[in-house]
Amino acid sequence: MLTMIKVLQSAIHWMRRVLVATAVGIPCWVLLSGQVAASVVIPDSDSSRLWRALVAEAGALHLPTRFLRQIPEQFVVFEFEDLHAFAAEYHPAEHRMVLDRSLSLNGAGRTLRPLGKMTHKQLETLYHELFHAYVDFVEHESAPSEAHASFLAFAREQQRCRYQQVLITPVIQKKGLKEERFLSEAESWEALNETWALFVGWAVWTKLEVAAKGGRERRASDRAGSVSAWIARLDQAEQDAALTGYYEPEDLEERRMARKRFLAPEFRLSAPELSTLMRDVLGSSAELIREAEQVLGRPRPPQSAPRVCPERTAR
Ligand SMILES: [Zn+2]
Repeated sequence: MLTMIKVLQSAIHWMRRVLVATAVGIPCWVLLSGQVAASVVIPDSDSSRLWRALVAEAGALHLPTRFLRQIPEQFVVFEFEDLHAFAAEYHPAEHRMVLDRSLSLNGAGRTLRPLGKMTHKQLETLYHELFHAYVDFVEHESAPSEAHASFLAFAREQQRCRYQQVLITPVIQKKGLKEERFLSEAESWEALNETWALFVGWAVWTKLEVAAKGGRERRASDRAGSVSAWIARLDQAEQDAALTGYYEPEDLEERRMARKRFLAPEFRLSAPELSTLMRDVLGSSAELIREAEQVLGRPRPPQSAPRVCPERTAR
């Protein structure tokens, strides 16, 4: 079911972008600046205020803030537009995040809706986009910290050894049907970004779902219960290969066939990627990371194993 929702969600995300992009035949981020009448661009000062409120609320709700605190408050330019409830876009060239109006306070498109009033799905969407903003920031920093340089080096290494030569599933419903693709620099970076953003959104959504399922009868001290429920869902996602990304093919011929290509199950999030994201981005506890690594670190069928990255020494 989750996979189905994700497929639908990303299909909507993609359809909208494609509709805009194909209308004029230029990348949608160029077209979007100033051409969509329904959009509301938040002024810089308000964007900074929005960011500060966002980080404070996320902290109060025990949502991940580790990566958010590293992004300067004026970095992201927010914009609200009539998209779709779970649709959102991030445009790295302009550090611009376009969110659906349903994510704004009273649907007015002026500032973000309080995080505590958002649905779990809306928070998943928001965190997915926030992660794109984080990568954008780390990628364009003029004087990156050692931690950021290390994160980026890891991402580039994974891009090279996991996302350049991939298998895709040309028909979403038929996971067994696969084709090989050699991705361009931009395509492989997008595939990595979407895989990672998908996980970040998923991790937040799952934490919220698990907490809600626990209900009021669960004592605050029952942390072990929520950890094991989160891990059980990770296990299911691993079996379903739900943590698998996608990219938009650059080749026009291929785009005529499919506007979006989904990676094959073999290219789902790996254990080293998971550890890095949980530690550096989500700021998860060592205990949770260790358990999650065991789930994704289980041997995967050798016949379907893609090229693996060299073993890294633990950081
Ligand atoms: Zn995305």
